[in-house]
Amino acid sequence: MRNPAAALLDLILPSFCSVCRAPGDALCEACRGRLARIEGPACDRCGAPTAWPVERCRECAGRRIPFATARAAVVYDDAARSLVADWKDRGLRSLAGLAAELVSEVVARPGAYTIVFVPSDPVRRLTRGYNPAERLAVTLGERWQLPVVPLLARSAGVGPQRGLPLAERRRNVRGVFQATRAAPKELVLVDDVYTSGATVSAAASALRKAGARRVEVVTFARAVR
Ligand SMILES: [Zn+2]
Ligand SMILES: [Zn+2]
Repeated sequence: MRNPAAALLDLILPSFCSVCRAPGDALCEACRGRLARIEGPACDRCGAPTAWPVERCRECAGRRIPFATARAAVVYDDAARSLVADWKDRGLRSLAGLAAELVSEVVARPGAYTIVFVPSDPVRRLTRGYNPAERLAVTLGERWQLPVVPLLARSAGVGPQRGLPLAERRRNVRGVFQATRAAPKELVLVDDVYTSGATVSAAASALRKAGARRVEVVTFARAVR
C-alpha cells in the first residue's frame, strides 16, 4: 500500500527509464517496445516458449506440478531484469502499473475469479515497505475486475532464491508457505517473476492443501532457458 513517505520519494527522485536510464518516464517508449513479449507457441502447462505448442515441455515433463498453467508477459532478459530491479529496490510504484499493463496486453484474462499473490519474506517486506507481487496483483485485479484476497503466509528467515541452483531452490522454499484459511476452488496466483517455478510451485501446493483445485499462475516476467 502506498505510504506518504514513499509518495514523497516518488516526487523528489529524478525520473529516468529503468532500462536505458534516459531521463523521463520510468519506462521509455523505446524500451517498452523492446521488452520481449511471450506470444509465440508455448508449453501449455508452464508457459515456456517452444518451437510448436506442446502439452508439456522438457522443463516440466515427468514432474508433479501443483499449478494448472503459468503465463507471463515478457522474457526475463536484461531489460526486464533492470525494470524489475528498480521496481523492487527503488520501490517505483509506477512500474507495478506498467507491469500490470503489459500482463493484460499479453496474458489472456484467467478463468478463475479470485486473485492471490505470493507474499514476500516478512523481513524484506519490512525493509522495502511493500510487496511487489501484491502491488501487481492489486493492479491486475483492478484491470480484470477480480477481487484480490491475501490467502498465504510466508515463514521468515528463508534465504533469497537468487543465485541458487534449481534443486536447492526447490528445497529452499518447500513448506515456506501456509494458507491462512480455506481457499476457493479456482485461483489466480500472481508473482513478479517466474524463474525456476520453485516459488510459485511451493505457494500453489499450499493453496492446494487448503482446498484449491486449480491454480493459474500469472507473472510479469519469465526466465527462458
Ligand atoms: Zn528506455
Ligand atoms: Zn512446460
